[in-house]
Amino acid sequence: MTATGFAEVAAGVYALRYPVYDVTVTLVVGDDAALVVDTLSTAEQATELAEAVRRVTAHPWTVVNTHHHFDHAFGNATFAAAGAPVWGHEGTANRLNAGGERTKRELSEELADAQPELAAQIAAVRVHPPERTVHQEATLDIGGRRVTLRFLGRGHTDNDLVVAVPDADVLVAGDLVESGGPPGFGDAYPLEWADTVAGLLRMTGPGTVVLPGHGPPVDSAFVLAQHADLTRLEWLIREGHANHSPVEAVAARSPFGVETSLPAVRRGYALLDGTLS
Ligand SMILES: [Zn+2]
Repeated sequence: MTATGFAEVAAGVYALRYPVYDVTVTLVVGDDAALVVDTLSTAEQATELAEAVRRVTAHPWTVVNTHHHFDHAFGNATFAAAGAPVWGHEGTANRLNAGGERTKRELSEELADAQPELAAQIAAVRVHPPERTVHQEATLDIGGRRVTLRFLGRGHTDNDLVVAVPDADVLVAGDLVESGGPPGFGDAYPLEWADTVAGLLRMTGPGTVVLPGHGPPVDSAFVLAQHADLTRLEWLIREGHANHSPVEAVAARSPFGVETSLPAVRRGYALLDGTLS
């Protein structure tokens, strides 16, 4: 499996869709520096990604992770070894520190039969949590371009960062917005996600290019529609919980489909019960 190349989506901002898990990686190129947003799942994938970056720019690079999930952060060590500082939300660093090794173990066992090569690569990952952390907001100077990293609240995880490139009207949303498939609720906060996306929408205008964590670039109208679906799911969960409805019955009414929504409803009920904080 090889990475396709980067395509320019706005002035000096490039996106690459990696075929494994259809991850979208973003590259911002300034005068004498570059920023790589997300690093894929393994050292092998990150090496391919680094080669794709080098076909666009020879500038020194900085890395930022949109959140702690392996498909966005397990390639960090490859870029760090090549001199990149790695940025992320403080929760991204904490979760990779506390749970990165367990994720490696569980994921490589899960993939062992169906995808033995990927399983072995994941087992061999050297977890490298971000060493430059963001609590609420940070501003980077990427070769003369101002890039902001902002935490807008809990949503897909408790550590999603949004990366804004105002001079090109680009927002990198990570997995807060998904266009390649439905949102992932395994570590999500489904009662807060819509509000967090509302914050993201306030940063967009009619021409803003929004880059999701998986899938092709979208516009603010797409994000508005996803916000409406997340709001609908939130209220289905609140109503279902108040009425003591079974999880399955609530998930069956979700705009994201039953299978995708089951973990969302379970986590929403747990939050309302106070068994998850
Ligand atoms: Zn994710």
